[in-house]
Amino acid sequence: MCNRKVTEGSNPSLSAQFWILKYNQPEMPQDQVEEVKQKTDIVSIIGERIEIKKAGRNFKANCPFHGEKTPSFMVSPELQIFKCFGCGEGGDAFSFLEKYEGMEFGEALKYLADRAGVKLQRVDLGAGSEKEKLIEINTQALRFYNYLLLSHPIGQKALDYLLKERGLKKQTIEEFSLGYSPENPATFKKFLVDKKKFNPGDIAKGGLGLIRGSQIYDRFSGRIVFPLFDHRGNPVGFSGRVLPWDKRETGKYINSPETPLYHKSNVLFALNLTRPFIKKKKVAIVVEGELDAILSYQAGIRNIVAIKGSALTEEQVRLLSRFAPKFILALDADIAGDSAARRGITVAGNLGVEVKVATITKYKDPDEAARGDLESYKKDLINAKGVWDYLIDSVFARSEIGDKIVQAHYANVLARKLDVPLSAVSEEIGKVEAKEEAL
Ligand SMILES: [Zn+2]
Repeated sequence: MCNRKVTEGSNPSLSAQFWILKYNQPEMPQDQVEEVKQKTDIVSIIGERIEIKKAGRNFKANCPFHGEKTPSFMVSPELQIFKCFGCGEGGDAFSFLEKYEGMEFGEALKYLADRAGVKLQRVDLGAGSEKEKLIEINTQALRFYNYLLLSHPIGQKALDYLLKERGLKKQTIEEFSLGYSPENPATFKKFLVDKKKFNPGDIAKGGLGLIRGSQIYDRFSGRIVFPLFDHRGNPVGFSGRVLPWDKRETGKYINSPETPLYHKSNVLFALNLTRPFIKKKKVAIVVEGELDAILSYQAGIRNIVAIKGSALTEEQVRLLSRFAPKFILALDADIAGDSAARRGITVAGNLGVEVKVATITKYKDPDEAARGDLESYKKDLINAKGVWDYLIDSVFARSEIGDKIVQAHYANVLARKLDVPLSAVSEEIGKVEAKEEAL
């Protein structure tokens, strides 16, 4: 059986080598790892994450690791392994979680042990333990910020601003775990260092703290704080927004720097909450800012994420494509058309994701639209255009559509900018014109 090669071949994958290494370490609870393995069914682990279909003694699916439309990804209940005959990925339940969820071995072990009801006695998480420490710091910090915003006089003014000026409900603030960071840096230190006994070096490493001389300061002091979660719900970073009365000369938003936990290009704001809605609707709406996502969510548009800033990255597209086969971008016109977004759109296309672009007609952005005229906002989303139509229309909106010479000029520009053959552009223009004649 060729499937056996996955576990017994002479050239085991890196992950398998890692497994053997970990497995043989004396501090690893070897019999417990075995127990977790025995009590885990790879079919349900994978079946909860992607759509699988019974095929004889095995299950098959479209591979989540490379784009395909005919399934070459197999799961074997007998061997408790998966194998893709398209891209070659394969392994056991542990390696599936490592690859699909980005878990480290220790995280996967803990996750599977919890599911199987196995109580782990002693686990050396190795590199994972630094991440765990930073997650713990972030968790405590977000509780602290959230408490100050919702329940303490220090956060009252910021709370009033969110409720009265920005139209947020208290329940929404709770759901998104929003917070307020105190202006006085001593409060931050008193809580995290003096009370919770975290090391200032670790607080700085996680991106929350800034060390100046012998003091630690809060990077987000005086700001509304939006915790950033990975899609599994771990708080990996924060972004902080200034309040309107803040007279400091500083950016409107600041973010956690790149840390061992936080990689900006991998995070989609709100995905930890909205993932089930995106899966159910089979569409992900992509907006720009935190408040665009939050206010839309509050208004009932829940299959939504924010890219936080100006670029839709390849990593974000790959992550999101695991949950929906279709994206609707409701971004600023210059963002939807910029080169980073085009790269994202190209990746989406290669992964078989359909991308549409919505134009918000009556308001500045989705935040205002969600608070203003929800029906009009929904209509804008429904009327989203294909990427091609959107780009061509936006060019033609600025030129004389009837003039063939102008048209040819823009077709050339488009082809060059999009890095596609001129014939492809001409073909699309033909379609748009045919559609207009049909009206
Ligand atoms: Zn594959």
